[in-house]
Amino acid sequence: MNIIFLGPPGAGKGTVAAIVKEQLGLVHISTGDLFRSNIKNETALGKQVKAILASGGLVSDEITCKMVEERLKEKDLEHGFILDGFPRTIPQADELKKFAKIDAVIEFAIPLEDVVRRLSGRRMCPSTGRIYHIEFDPPKKEGFDDETGEPLIQRDDDKEEAIRHRLDVYTKQTEPLIAYYKKEGLLKTFDASVSSKHVAQCIIKLSKGEI
Ligand code: ADP
Repeated sequence: MNIIFLGPPGAGKGTVAAIVKEQLGLVHISTGDLFRSNIKNETALGKQVKAILASGGLVSDEITCKMVEERLKEKDLEHGFILDGFPRTIPQADELKKFAKIDAVIEFAIPLEDVVRRLSGRRMCPSTGRIYHIEFDPPKKEGFDDETGEPLIQRDDDKEEAIRHRLDVYTKQTEPLIAYYKKEGLLKTFDASVSSKHVAQCIIKLSKGEI
């Protein structure tokens, strides 16, 4: 099964993907993670996109689509994949049709005020990528990773100015995809303001044809 996770930043797409992929044997493809790993490894692509990510703006459709198309050519996708963070614009959705078949689009529905609260409290372990929240999912020792003991960091784009910009970009460029996929009959909407575990269970039921 090939699915798209669609929703604003901070809706819990990454957290839900981590649960669902285990249970359904899907590969989680997050364009944000792909860009961040290119930045960390200082690849040519990473150098090209670093400033764009820090500002909270979008990488060009051309660069992003090429990266996803290449990733989907790899041989580890026999049970299917979750696309998280892609497509984010109508041109990206049009392009995706040329190189992949999508079975369902999961909309993570959540009020934007909830998202600001979630994102501004998000902290990350720099080496493992594990995510915490200062209020909802704090580490055992404030400011440090439970496993590695490293100091947690805040992503540049989780700082307030960048959050506002990301939400603005989401509303203008990505939200129109909800109507786009509704029209194609692929859209399934779930309430993402509840726990990630609950959203994950709903998606698993959906995959089994139970809802
Ligand atoms: P978020 O928490 O905003 O969902 P992601 O980790 O998905 O964050 O993405 C981080 C950044 O990577 C985005 O703000 C954008 O700069 C870039 N990015 C990710 N996916 C795309 C995409 N499909 N098109 C353009 N830029 C993207």
